[in-house]
Amino acid sequence: MTVRVRFAPSPTGMFHVGGARSALQNWIFAKQQGGVFVLRIEDTDAARNRPEWTEGILSALDWIGIARGSYEGPYFQSSYAGEHRAAAQRLYEGGRAYYCDCTREDVQARTGPQQRGYDGFCRDRGLEPGEGRALRFRTPDEGETVVVDLVRGEPTFENKLIEDFVIARGDGSPVFLLANVVDDMSMGITHVIRAEEHLPNTPKQQLLWDALGVKPPVWAHVPVVVNEKRQKLSKRRDKVALEAYRDEGYLADAMRNYLMLLGWAPSGDREIVPWSVIEEEFRLDEVNPSPAFFDEKKLRAFNGDYIRALPVADFVEACRPWLTGTGTIVPPPWQPDEFDPAAFAAVAPLAQTRIAVLSEIVPNVDFLFLADPLIDEAAWAKAMKEGAADLLDAAIVAFEALESWDAESLKATLEAVGAERGLKLGKAQAPVRVAVTGRTVGLPLFESLEVLGRDRTLTRLRAARVRLV
Ligand code: GLU
Repeated sequence: MTVRVRFAPSPTGMFHVGGARSALQNWIFAKQQGGVFVLRIEDTDAARNRPEWTEGILSALDWIGIARGSYEGPYFQSSYAGEHRAAAQRLYEGGRAYYCDCTREDVQARTGPQQRGYDGFCRDRGLEPGEGRALRFRTPDEGETVVVDLVRGEPTFENKLIEDFVIARGDGSPVFLLANVVDDMSMGITHVIRAEEHLPNTPKQQLLWDALGVKPPVWAHVPVVVNEKRQKLSKRRDKVALEAYRDEGYLADAMRNYLMLLGWAPSGDREIVPWSVIEEEFRLDEVNPSPAFFDEKKLRAFNGDYIRALPVADFVEACRPWLTGTGTIVPPPWQPDEFDPAAFAAVAPLAQTRIAVLSEIVPNVDFLFLADPLIDEAAWAKAMKEGAADLLDAAIVAFEALESWDAESLKATLEAVGAERGLKLGKAQAPVRVAVTGRTVGLPLFESLEVLGRDRTLTRLRAARVRLV
């Protein structure tokens, strides 16, 4: 039997990091089993779906290595409405479902507000289909439903506690629970790997598989992803969109490595491992069922490690979208013709060790490409204290006299200028740095001045000096 898994997102918002984690787990499992990964877009909630969310899912999957063309699909759930209706009809005709005209108020009037679920009032009334009548599944009165779950063992549900749930609404449209089962069935899905949130649906869905006469899949409910307060990650409160991480400059390799650590760890005391090792070592039955903490700080540090491990040429290439402002990435503050690739290449190795996400490249190098530096006023106030004017005057004279404009000579020169004033190098650097780059922190100063060049450095020092008059 060929293993067939599916990833079945609903295109109702940005692509959630928890979804990306489930997608990767499905992807790896399929690969390990020589199986097939199916992508199914569950777009039946017409009010909440938008085509751009579907496109966002496809491109985000592509980004983390689940490339278009390398999986089956995408299929769209909305194309199979006929099959969903036919399955509902079959269940009705086989006596496994019945029509019900109770309103919520009717049910509550009979059972009291405390009781949850449907009381079975219409079970044996033999109602015909009709406008406003929902179709309910007749759950067995006895026995139990055992869910075989690779992550959770065998969660067992008593059938008598499962209400007669609705499978088609009053307007005849099948609900998600049924559509999801019918699609999995017709797509030959053998393993359903999805988030824990769906576990409560599972006994109901398994009853539907049984009633439709098909052997249910093996399930794997992977842990919910939570924030530092142990709250389920929410798109209103937390940064959950994979696209947001991508646009901020997380590397796809770092991201997918980190996502796979949510609830699982590779062998040994390692966390940063090549993708090939994860593909080989990952086991669904090793996934920890407890909630997995999505630690943004750790991810950031992780990404920094990945950035530092890149060959410089790859780092230069990886920065390009932030230097040019491609696609959905915020454009840099300089004009395209102000960008100088050679100057960037010269400082890239210095920047590579200092940034944790690629978007941070921009404030580190903008001084090289803007006609005038972007002055941070707080930094200016801090650096341009008493003595700054005198120091700048002396630095200008000394720099003008330099024969060779290189980092080493610049450093020795400013060191001497500072020493004459009883200032350590760090103190002497501050006004120069702010005058030239606009900031108090950044790339190593003297290398920066070397790349910026004599004329532009001196122009900026003089401009700062004028401002101090
Ligand atoms: N469309 C469902 C969701 O996005 C997935 C259901 C499933 O994986 O079975 O939550």
